[in-house]
Amino acid sequence: MVSIRALTIRHTIGYILVLSVLILLSRGLWSYPQELKLAIEHQERDVISIQNAIRSTHESLTSMAYDYAHWKISQDFISLPTLENSNNTTKALFQLKDHEITYLAIISADGNIPIALHRNIEDEQVFDFDAEQRERLISTTYPALLAENELETFELFLGNSVMTSAVPIYAHQGHDHHMTSKTPLGWVVISWSLYGDNLKRLSDILQVEITDAGISNSQLIEKANSKEGQFLDLYSDIKHVAASFRIRCLSSFNQQLSGCMKIHHQEDLIPELFNLKTLFIIFIFSLIPFISFTIILRFLILPIERTTQYLRHTKNQNNLLKIERKIGITELDQARLAFNELIDTVNAQQEKLEKLSSTDALTQIPNRRALDLEIEKTWSRINRHCGNVVLILIDIDHFKLYNDFYGHPKGDEVLIKVAQSLQLFSRRSDDITARYGGEEFVILFQYNERQEIINLLQIINKTMEALNEPHEKSEFKHITVSCGACWIESEINSLAKKSISTWIETADKALYQAKENGRNQYEILPFDVD
Ligand code: GH3
Ligand code: MG
Ligand code: MG
Repeated sequence: MVSIRALTIRHTIGYILVLSVLILLSRGLWSYPQELKLAIEHQERDVISIQNAIRSTHESLTSMAYDYAHWKISQDFISLPTLENSNNTTKALFQLKDHEITYLAIISADGNIPIALHRNIEDEQVFDFDAEQRERLISTTYPALLAENELETFELFLGNSVMTSAVPIYAHQGHDHHMTSKTPLGWVVISWSLYGDNLKRLSDILQVEITDAGISNSQLIEKANSKEGQFLDLYSDIKHVAASFRIRCLSSFNQQLSGCMKIHHQEDLIPELFNLKTLFIIFIFSLIPFISFTIILRFLILPIERTTQYLRHTKNQNNLLKIERKIGITELDQARLAFNELIDTVNAQQEKLEKLSSTDALTQIPNRRALDLEIEKTWSRINRHCGNVVLILIDIDHFKLYNDFYGHPKGDEVLIKVAQSLQLFSRRSDDITARYGGEEFVILFQYNERQEIINLLQIINKTMEALNEPHEKSEFKHITVSCGACWIESEINSLAKKSISTWIETADKALYQAKENGRNQYEILPFDVD
């Protein structure tokens, strides 16, 4: 057996569990993959925009290098392989600062370096390349230029990653700048720092945070050379994963790492499989069964509990009462009506039983049990409120002889006839005619005048005469009765010291006298109340 309360709690918990599983499944199979896809798309756009920005910066650097290459001054540097022309150097320096160029060099076709300057970004001081730096230009850049004629690359310069563009210088033909010879006189090499302020500026423009990967250059080179050092090149394809950051590296034309950048993606874009939102949804949906549980409790369980309490209460009082108060719930009210019908049936059956137990089986008039109850009721009533009541004991004369002569069944018939005719004398609700036992009856009768008693007794005898039931063995030749009556005219509490049995005994005494006096008559005695 289980209570509605327990059942509801069980179902509520079940509902929440199923709901949580469904929400988590839909999160895992539907909304989470969608959010993840969006995040990846967003991150891919971040990478593409950085690739594009760096590519276009590199292109502008190259076009700037072309501008240098077109200037006559660049040709002049090649033809004058010394730095004596201070005016030209100043102009070169001016360009260096003005365009925030990290270094500028001119390499002649025969491998000389007429000018090679670099700028200290912090204090804007300009320095000449030292021997080692010059050596690097000749050993690395120069052979590449001889082979490619033009370069766009990244490299490490003074520990910083720089983007470098190198373009050829051709000899001018008169004033026409477009007419150039096919073999270059040399090359202009310029580079631009990709770190520090420039990287910050790039971040601001692209609205993607880009920082140094935080790995020192020596480590980078070490890792790049090791097996695990699979650094992703800036321009390599995008990996379809969501991450809070990615590291993309820049490499030179000869596959030397020049640095790595860390691309920080927006953290809040990366979805979590289980987040507060999911828990909140589960919580909100869990509220629904809790609310319905409360409503069910309020509208269903409480009326049931109250009704049960009421039924227990009425049962304890041994009193089967109907539930009159409406419950307000159709099904419960129908149960209430059905219960009330049951109570009606039970009450009717009880009434029937009571009637059966208080009715004489042969004569169908009240029996001794009913009589005793009625006498008691009358006794206490007249004791409380006063009243005039007479108790008449009626006995069929020579009934033994009748039975002997006519037989017992015939005797029964006579008993029924006598009972039915005597019953007509108790018409008021407080009056009663009952079978006292055998062939004796009692009438309890309320009267106002004493004369009414005499009238009644006379009528009883006359009624028997009128019945005209033959009785061969009787001197009267028909059924007769003898009556003994005892009346009480009470005052309040006057019966307190008397008993009911005295009342009956007095009536019996009167009956005895009637018999003694010759039967078919009555005798009246007052109830001695003193
Ligand atoms: P008395 O005039 O003095 O009253 O004489 P009686 O014969 O009527 O009185 P007694 O007490 O001697 O006999 C009563 C008889 O009533 C005896 C019994 O056979 C008969 N009797 C009692 N109950 C029944 C009954 O239910 N059916 C029948 N047929 N007879 C009954
Ligand atoms: Mg008798
Ligand atoms: Mg008798």
